[in-house]
Amino acid sequence: MRAVENALESLEPQPLWRFFLELSRIPRGSGNEAAAAAWVADQARAMGCAVSLDAAGNVLIRKPAAPGREAAPATALQAHVDMVCEKNEGTVHDFLTDPIEVVREGDLLRARGTTLGADDGIGVAAALAVLASRDIRHGPLEVLITVDEEMGLVGAKGLQPGTLRAGYLLNLDSGSAGFLTIGCSGGLDSDAVRRVRMRPARPGSAAFRIKVAGLKGGHSGGAINQGRGNAIKVLARALWVLAPAFGLELAAIEGGDKRNAIPREAAALVLLDPGRAPGLRDALGALETEWREAFGSFDPGVTLVLEQAGAPVPEVMEPGDARAVVNFLLAVPHGVVADSPVIAGLVQTSSNLATVAAGAGTVKVGLSHRSSVASSKGALADRVQALCELAGFELIRGVGYPGWQPEPDSPLVRLVSAVHEAVFARPMRIRATHGGLECGIIGEGHPGLKMVSLGPDMWDIHTPDERVSISSVAEYWKLLGAVLEAL
Ligand SMILES: [Zn+2]
Repeated sequence: MRAVENALESLEPQPLWRFFLELSRIPRGSGNEAAAAAWVADQARAMGCAVSLDAAGNVLIRKPAAPGREAAPATALQAHVDMVCEKNEGTVHDFLTDPIEVVREGDLLRARGTTLGADDGIGVAAALAVLASRDIRHGPLEVLITVDEEMGLVGAKGLQPGTLRAGYLLNLDSGSAGFLTIGCSGGLDSDAVRRVRMRPARPGSAAFRIKVAGLKGGHSGGAINQGRGNAIKVLARALWVLAPAFGLELAAIEGGDKRNAIPREAAALVLLDPGRAPGLRDALGALETEWREAFGSFDPGVTLVLEQAGAPVPEVMEPGDARAVVNFLLAVPHGVVADSPVIAGLVQTSSNLATVAAGAGTVKVGLSHRSSVASSKGALADRVQALCELAGFELIRGVGYPGWQPEPDSPLVRLVSAVHEAVFARPMRIRATHGGLECGIIGEGHPGLKMVSLGPDMWDIHTPDERVSISSVAEYWKLLGAVLEAL
């Protein structure tokens, strides 16, 4: 144990790691980060900085320029203090009370059986280390530490527009050294809802479940362009083809579990003449073969199986309503809608058919649309609404959050790239993410604010395999200091 502690004590740069290790002792799952935010505020006050907390719980810190840099433009450093709480099966850990147990493996830092919280604890620690530093000749500084990022960018949404005075913002919430993130998508969630009339099941029919499983799923931002199957789409196609052919009656349908995940599993409860079950099983097998050919190595494990349902099913949907629901699920947009004309390989606009649930005479379909272009999000929702009108659904649109449109030629992007090249003798790679970042929301409330996002190498964030490269944190620290001096 002693050896482990010593191994952690010797990490460089010391102030950054000291802040990170101290922060790791304070439980800070999303929505439960008040103690961690208070700790951040205390650290900054102890350094003599001006500190305030807003109604959302975000911490805003100001530090004057280093001597001689008073005329430099004000810059904000921004990170989120909350972390995703995931643990391995069998790991005993209470995220409400227990400190994260940080362990070192060579150049990697990880946690024992849980998420590490390097996302975004390293960003918070880096911002505090800049505040503590006497060596970095920075201009006027603002540090914004937000709360509750991981559960829907809640802290950023609660930030009052115009809070920041800075003209530049460095977001410290990216996980790839050598990459500069310059854009992200905005999002708009919507629910399509429809009442369905029910009627008594045909006498003599038997209940079966058609199940789609074995798909990879993945994040609806990061994985939407990776060719993966959507279990609800696969199921809808099966029902669309096989319901008329086999006289299926639809009793219920269910699939997906998270708005921001591509659905991996879906199932329909159907009734049919028991004598036709073997034929239906064969037909599902044929569809499975078709899908495997279509998905290929993108998603090779898809299965379509027929299982006998346990309990008897008294009611089914009226055939016209059932057909409308299946038509809607088959036709509603899912996947990439447009690629970015600015950054190769980046998705600009996409849709995720995320969930479907039917019960008590109502069908509810959860959708999530993303785009870095605000109007494209709205256009996509309009397209879904048009389909809703055709199929008898009502569309309930969420409020949404704004994206951050990439500007590869902005002076800030050019400056950070040039500093990177000067420090490491290699160019920085420019990228944008189809996921959400707080920059979109902060930018909306601060027109004209120039932003970039950067960070050290991290892998498998949001899982118990999360790890961060110690050497890349040292490089990140060097870059951050150099950028602040060059601004
Ligand atoms: Zn993060």
